Order: sequence, then structure tokens, then C-alpha cells
Amino acid sequence: MQGNHVHEWIGDSRGSTMLLLLIISRLLVALGANLQLQISSALSDADRAFLRSLKLDGTLVFEGPDINDATVDFGRLLTLQPPRAVLKPASVRDVAQLVRGIYLMSAPGNSTTLTVAARGHGHSIHGQAQASDGVVVDMSSLRGIRVVPSELYADVRGGELWIDVLQAALREGLAPKSWTDYLYLSVGGTLSNAGISGQAFLHGPQISNVHQLEIVTGKGEVVVCSEKENSDLFYGALGGLGQFGIITSARIALERAPQRVKWVRAIYSDFDTFRKDQEYLISQPRGRCFDYVEGFVVSDSENLLDNWRSSLFQPAHDHIRTRGSELGVQENITSRSINSTDATVLYYLEVAKNYMEEEADIVDGMLAELLAPLHCIPSSIYSTDISYVDFLNRVHVGEMKLRAQGLWDIPHPWLNLFIPASKIVEFDKVVFKCMLGKRGAGPIIVYPMNRSKWDERTSVAIPQEDKFYLVALLRFPSEMANTEELLQQNEAILQFCRSARIGEKQYMPRLYGAAEWRVQFGESKWATFVRRKALYDPSSILAPGQNMFRCNYRRNSSSPTAPPPSIVNQLLSLRHLALSTSS
Ligand SMILES: Cc1cc2nc3c(=O)[nH]c(=O)nc-3n(C[C@H](O)[C@H](O)[C@H](O)COP(=O)(O)OP(=O)(O)OC[C@H]3O[C@@H](n4cnc5c(N)ncnc54)[C@H](O)[C@@H]3O)c2cc1C
Repeated sequence: MQGNHVHEWIGDSRGSTMLLLLIISRLLVALGANLQLQISSALSDADRAFLRSLKLDGTLVFEGPDINDATVDFGRLLTLQPPRAVLKPASVRDVAQLVRGIYLMSAPGNSTTLTVAARGHGHSIHGQAQASDGVVVDMSSLRGIRVVPSELYADVRGGELWIDVLQAALREGLAPKSWTDYLYLSVGGTLSNAGISGQAFLHGPQISNVHQLEIVTGKGEVVVCSEKENSDLFYGALGGLGQFGIITSARIALERAPQRVKWVRAIYSDFDTFRKDQEYLISQPRGRCFDYVEGFVVSDSENLLDNWRSSLFQPAHDHIRTRGSELGVQENITSRSINSTDATVLYYLEVAKNYMEEEADIVDGMLAELLAPLHCIPSSIYSTDISYVDFLNRVHVGEMKLRAQGLWDIPHPWLNLFIPASKIVEFDKVVFKCMLGKRGAGPIIVYPMNRSKWDERTSVAIPQEDKFYLVALLRFPSEMANTEELLQQNEAILQFCRSARIGEKQYMPRLYGAAEWRVQFGESKWATFVRRKALYDPSSILAPGQNMFRCNYRRNSSSPTAPPPSIVNQLLSLRHLALSTSS
């Protein structure tokens, strides 16, 4: 009987396709990928005729490796139906022509299903730069940097990578002020999110360091905007997740580039002391503070200095004098080797002081003064001295190592959260200490930022408090946990945040549909978002991969990443335990 059913199902041609898809999806899930397929209709004659009629400076491709590349991203969690075409623009006109044409074809009675997604460098996690029913604009072909030293800015095409912006600015002795930890990200891509690193407490995110944008809106209009001109679009596009237009150019603020960096780490066994020191450091006035403040959560067995995000950290060169004592250095540091704690979770503070070569004689004194008020484990301060470029490009060295081991192009079930400062201790107790344990490989970053450095008018969603933390769980599957387990753990963390009313905001979120996005933004910001969408992309053509106004994929009713009830119950009891032991 059962065999017959299987036979009948296989006998049907649609059924056999479904079975094949099921088998492939099971295989990929087993391999650590989380596959969700959407079957979409073929390109209509009208759409095909339109795309072929475009008079482009660049090229439009319908098949081949560019199409395949556009179906995957750094997350490697989602494989969607390939886009209909990939545009490799050679001019802003190319982008405008494409979007304008689709906008006109989307008018009532003239319908098209085409959408458009700009793809920076494909470093999204959840398919945000994909367009299964549309055209992907490969921004890497839209390049160009013009540095204007006298005005301290650079005009940069949206497809440029930050590493290239840095190199071009350095030729004039200048550099942007605000960074991401990793520089092989596109300017348009990070400005559509926020762009943060350890400099954000001082300079704000990258979206706070832009003077002007050139944007192709969802109507195909090319608009120059700034604080003074078309300011609603300017602020909307900053952190706007690509919803209001494609950023074709940005005017980035520059400063005189430092030449060298003193890069310091200090270890803490107590979270409360760690976060108080971090918050103290980001409260210090400009000129009397570090230039960079971050932090990491590490388990007791890790070598605290051997981390792929900081492969250049080799603290063999320096001794720092603080509180009157000469501190030694070690090559291989674990919690056991620092010998002062039996904690299973440790925290290390990472700070950096930029300087010019002519300040080499005084920089150690400056450093000692800045470090003196801290309450880290006294013998645990380690420092190294490297060039400014090497410091900024530190993650690339780790990338090369991971690539060599075949550990770069694998699934990345990452979770990035902004947590209000008043809730970070509770978050530590439940998430870092209880939920994460030793599961998963990859860094866990935690550092605070000042809300005053973020502009309310931009689109990005952040917590309401004056200080809030980035918590970045940048984990990848290992023998400790596979992709699906890590995704479930992420979901459990989000559930904890909701049930404990943490007031978190997701950074680079994976959300689905307007209702979830409304919660992310809050009522007032969501209302602004919806108003701007109606104004600048009324046909919802742009960035369908954010699953906001138009969805790139269908979510199953039972989400594949929902944690089983046992995990949720365990979680709630952990929270209860953590809170009762703290009171
Ligand atoms: C290894 C690694 C390290 C990272 N480190 C940091 C970090 O330190 N700090 C940080 O803030 N982020 C970091 N990120 C996240 C990064 O900012 C995002 O992945 C971001 O999406 C930029 O990547 P991308 O340029 O490849 O953009 P994509 O992933 O290609 O695009 C992201 C979104 O922006 C849209 N978009 C892309 N280009 C444009 C454009 N020109 N105009 C309008 N919309 C556009 C896309 O449609 C998509 O919706 C990191 C990511 C990786 C993989």
C-alpha cells in the first residue's frame, strides 16, 4: 500500500520534481545548508523584450557564472531561484534605465513581476542582496574614487570596496573616520545597513560620516541628496536596507590618516567590571580617549590571542607600564595560563590608540594613562604596535587563513543584535554564560556605542537608550555544533530577548513581512519607513531580499529554525536561574 502511494507520487511529473527537490534539500540541510526554494514563472515575453531593448554602457547577462554567483551570499544559508538577469552597469545611466523601465512596466495594466536588487559584495547572510524574480545589479562594476584633499572628502561609487577607498585616501595622507572590522565590503552595502566597528563610539557609524549621496530611486530618477538637499531621501537611504534607492555614489568624510596604532588587549573574568570599563572608555571626551573600543567573549579553552578576526595580534614586541609596574607578555594565552580565574567565560577588552611617527616617544605614556583607570586582571594587558593599514585590514589576514583551510565559503549562521546597556548584564548571564557554553566556532563580539553619535533621521533601528551594545555572534559550524543547531540557538536567543523584554534590535536582520519589520522599527519609525517607500519606490521594486514589502522567499509555516519546545523551556529556566542567583 505504502509502496503504491510512493509509486503514484513518483509517476506524476510534478511529484517527481518535488521529490527531487525534497531529496536535494535534505542533502543540503545535512551538509549544513538551509535551503528554501521558490519556483517562479519563466521570464515573460514583455519582460524579455524590455530587457533586451536596453541600450547599456555595461552588460546584461542571462546565464553563466554571474547568474550563479548572484544566488549565493556569504551566509550560504539560503539558495533561491536564480535571478532573471544580472546587470553589470558601466554607468549610473545603466542603473537608472533598468529601474525606470521596470517602474513604468509595473504600472496597472502593464504588469511585470521583475524586481531589482543591488548586490555590493554579496556579504549578506540571509539573501538580502538576491532577487529571484528579478534583476541583480552587480555594483562591483560601478567603481570610481575621487579624493578631494582640500575639502577632506572622497566621492566614491557605490560599488567600491572600503579597502580601495582606504588605499586611495592614504595616497593623500587621509582616511575615512568610521570603519567596519572587515574592509572587503561595498560602500553602498554598508551604508544601507550602518557600518560599525570600534570607532563608532567616537565618530558614529559610517552612516554618520557621509556628506552626500547620489541615488537611483525606485522610479528610476537620479537624485543627489544631502542634509540640505532632498534630505528626506538622504536620511531614508542611510540604513535604509536598499528600500528607497540604489546608492550610486557617496561623499565620505575624511581626516588626516594616523600612521601607526598601539593595539591593546586586557582580560576580565567578571562581566560587570568589563562592561563598566567599556562604558567608562566610551564616555571619555575626544582627545582623552582611545580611538577604538571593542570586546570579545571567549571560553576558557580558547587561545585568547588566536582569533581569526585578529590574526595580526602577536604581542611579542611590547611592554606597557601601567600603575607603575612593567607588565610581561606571553605568546599563548588561555584562562589557565593567566592563572587568576576559574571562570569558564572570559571577556577581553580590545582598545587601540592611533598615533603619528613623530609621537612614537610619547605614545606609551599616553597609553599607560588611558589604561590606568581600568580594572582588568592586572597581569593580562598585552599590546602590539602595527601600521594603521594593517590594523584596519586585520580581518583580511584571518580571512586568508580560513580560505586556505576551506573554512571561508561555508554556512555562516550569524546573529547581530543591538542590546540596550541596561540589559547587557542580564543578556550575559543568560546568553553568554548559559546558552552558548562552548558551542560553535567563531568570534563573539560585544562592545558599546553612544546613541548620540547616531542620527535619528536615518532609517536604522537602534535601541532607545543612550548607550547600547553590539553583540555579534559570528559563528560557523564545527564539531561542536552544526548549522541547524546554531540557527536554532539564534532563534532561541531571539525568543529569550522577546520574553525578557530586552528591547533588542536586530542588525542586518532576518525578518519576514511587514508585521515583523514593524516590530523591529517601532511604530513611529515604521510609519516613516512606509511613507518613504511610497514616495521613492512606490512599486516595491527594490531589494526584495529584505522580505519587507515584497518577499523573495516563502517562509514555511513551521520555520526550519524554530527551536524545539525543550530548548525554549530550558531557556526560560536558565533565565530564572540566572536572575535568582544574581539577586
Ligand atoms: C566577514 C564579514 C565581516 C563583516 N564585518 C562587519 C563590520 O565589522 N561592521 C558592519 O557594520 N558590518 C559588517 N559586515 C556586514 C556587512 O556590513 C553587510 O554584509 C553588508 O550587507 C555589506 O556587504 P555587501 O557590501 O557585500 O552588501 P550586500 O550584501 O551585497 O548588500 C546588502 C544589502 O544592501 C543592498 N545594497 C547593496 N549595495 C547597495 C547600494 N549600492 N545601494 C543600495 N542598496 C545596496 C542590497 O540589496 C542588500 O539588501 C561584515 C560582513 C562579513 C561577511
